[in-house]
Amino acid sequence: MTDNHKTRMVAKKAVMDKKIAAANEERGVLILLKGNGKGKSSSAFGTMARSIGHGKKCAVIQFIKGRNETGEYKFFKDHPMVDWHVMGHGFTWETQDKSQDITAAQKAWALAEELLQNDAYDMLVFDEMSYMFKYQYLEVGPVVAALQKRPKDQNVIITGRTMALPLQDIADTISVVQDERHAFRLGVKAQKGIEF
Ligand code: ATP
Ligand code: MG
Repeated sequence: MTDNHKTRMVAKKAVMDKKIAAANEERGVLILLKGNGKGKSSSAFGTMARSIGHGKKCAVIQFIKGRNETGEYKFFKDHPMVDWHVMGHGFTWETQDKSQDITAAQKAWALAEELLQNDAYDMLVFDEMSYMFKYQYLEVGPVVAALQKRPKDQNVIITGRTMALPLQDIADTISVVQDERHAFRLGVKAQKGIEF
């Protein structure tokens, strides 16, 4: 039994070592976190915390302003390695004002475009950006072009339930957060430290 395990692990190690050796390119990646389950934004901010731990400079643009003063905002806002920008006003069904939403989206994009040209930033998080394309507040073409021209080592994470296909075409990593169950549907109220 043990010998058998050891033989299998030796073989597995050889396969893994070969895969690790084959992945030798060093560059920034575009990560898309999509799907209807809970965990996209929190995963993005978790990855950002990992980068900050290594002394990397990060920026967040929130394309939709959810609640005031989320826990993540309070935690990161004064961190010297993070610039946090809340640009949108709220969900479309909250603002109910299309022209105001479009103006906010364009302003957020102008900033995003600037950051995508600035190699001082190691990681950019564009939270809930995908809605901008879904509601046609922004065109995806210029976003794809700017992402492709960004500094070689810059990492970008984009979150949102549905993701524009042209972004998926150029992404390096795409994770789908699936909704199997959510406490909200069990009647549990949104709470501090879990939802916001
Ligand atoms: P989180 O910020 O917790 O990582 P998320 O970014 O994956 O969540 P969003 O679509 O941005 O999810 O929604 C944000 C808020 O909606 C969070 O408070 C989250 O708990 C809640 N939420 C996420 N998925 C669901 C769901 N399937 N049903 C109900 N509420 C949800
Ligand atoms: Mg989110």
